[in-house]
Amino acid sequence: MAPPSNNRQPTHHDVIIIGAGAAGLMCAATTGYRGRRTLVLDHANKPGKKILMSGGGRCNFTNLNSTPANFLSDNPHYCISALKRYTPQDFVELVDRHGVEYEEKAPGQLFCQDSAKDILNVLLTECEWAGAEIRMETSVNSVTETGDGYHLATSAGNFTCESLVVATGGLSIPTMGATGFGYDIARQFGLEVLPTRAGLVPFTLHPELKQQLAPLSGVSCPVDAHCHNEHFREPMLVTHRGLSGPAMLQVSSYWQPGDEIHINLLPAQKIQQDLLDLRRDKPQSTLLQYLNQHLPKRFAQAFNELQGWRGPLQEYRNADIGQVAQALGDWTIKPAGTEGYRTAEVTLGGVDTRQLSSKTMAVQDQPNLFFIGEVVDVTGHLGGHNFQWAWASGVAAGNVA
Ligand SMILES: Cc1cc2nc3c(=O)[nH]c(=O)nc-3n(C[C@H](O)[C@H](O)[C@H](O)COP(=O)(O)OP(=O)(O)OC[C@H]3O[C@@H](n4cnc5c(N)ncnc54)[C@H](O)[C@@H]3O)c2cc1C
Repeated sequence: MAPPSNNRQPTHHDVIIIGAGAAGLMCAATTGYRGRRTLVLDHANKPGKKILMSGGGRCNFTNLNSTPANFLSDNPHYCISALKRYTPQDFVELVDRHGVEYEEKAPGQLFCQDSAKDILNVLLTECEWAGAEIRMETSVNSVTETGDGYHLATSAGNFTCESLVVATGGLSIPTMGATGFGYDIARQFGLEVLPTRAGLVPFTLHPELKQQLAPLSGVSCPVDAHCHNEHFREPMLVTHRGLSGPAMLQVSSYWQPGDEIHINLLPAQKIQQDLLDLRRDKPQSTLLQYLNQHLPKRFAQAFNELQGWRGPLQEYRNADIGQVAQALGDWTIKPAGTEGYRTAEVTLGGVDTRQLSSKTMAVQDQPNLFFIGEVVDVTGHLGGHNFQWAWASGVAAGNVA
């Protein structure tokens, strides 16, 4: 470690990166290997805290099927170039070189076999080998342009650098060190910051529905959920606070307050035809029996109760069966809200990419100022895409910073 810098004599580095998270560490290893004297500054007490808590502690570190279609942005083409130049396979090769064991838990989604620590260790080892210095518990008080670079006043003294990379992440999980500092720097340098909101976040429900669904707490079932025509066929989980599980988290990124979400509880069934056939073949059977065949028993029971479905199918007219099919195939809910940044996995919005180079992540009229990772307006779907963006944008900037 370098000695602490004294306040009068700023310590000079070629590259300073603010934020020792996924994107910042990846960028630091890349600039370090290029022989650039690199310093990473972070105000938290440990690097990569979100990596450690990701994927339930096992870090879903990439998605083999990641494409630009897996990202939300006001400028959807922006992410294409970086994602093309650093692919999921590139990260897998890095992980393989370090002997990390992993598994494909769902199609394309790679998780550590053992612990998310393995991914953080890969990044820290790469930074060490590349000679990049990481200085934790350091708050950056101000950033100023010097003409040939940037001057940073920090709690550990003053620093100057030729290239400054902002990798401060989004606003989710403030207890892990998330701040809006990256947005402040962007605004300071005249960049637009698009409105931010929590993404990949559970929904909360209005009291009546919450109470009705209370008996279902802990039950999960595969659904097709959609909002603004974005469909996700994944499990939904009812919790004591509302609706969660991958399907709901995915939909939350497209949801705006006041919107309805639509849930097909039996996406694999032709519900109306099934019920008409069942009424013809077994007129005494009930809707609960049908639901029990296709849904977890507890869910079937509670949903049947919620809908007040009683009696044998022979008592249901065609129009009734149509309504039942509608209720199951298009269960429509108006969430009260989301759990917000407290539990959100990501932040939507952020630094407007229209003012950044998609090749280098640099500000168009400030070629030595870079924004990477979640601080920019690029947000991935659930399933390893957000880390893939952190790696790809970190490398894109690291190759030139
Ligand atoms: C619970 C949870 C689980 C997740 N699981 C997954 C997953 O399995 N797969 C996936 O792809 N994505 C996952 N994500 C999303 C993923 O963690 C982020 O998209 C990714 O970490 C973003 O990387 P980043 O480097 O841009 O930001 P971060 O990793 O958030 O790093 C930002 C760094 O900047 C530092 N910082 C912030 N403000 C300041 C400041 N003012 N001064 C100095 N330093 C500052 C922070 O301390 C932090 O170290 C998950 C997120 C959460 C919250």
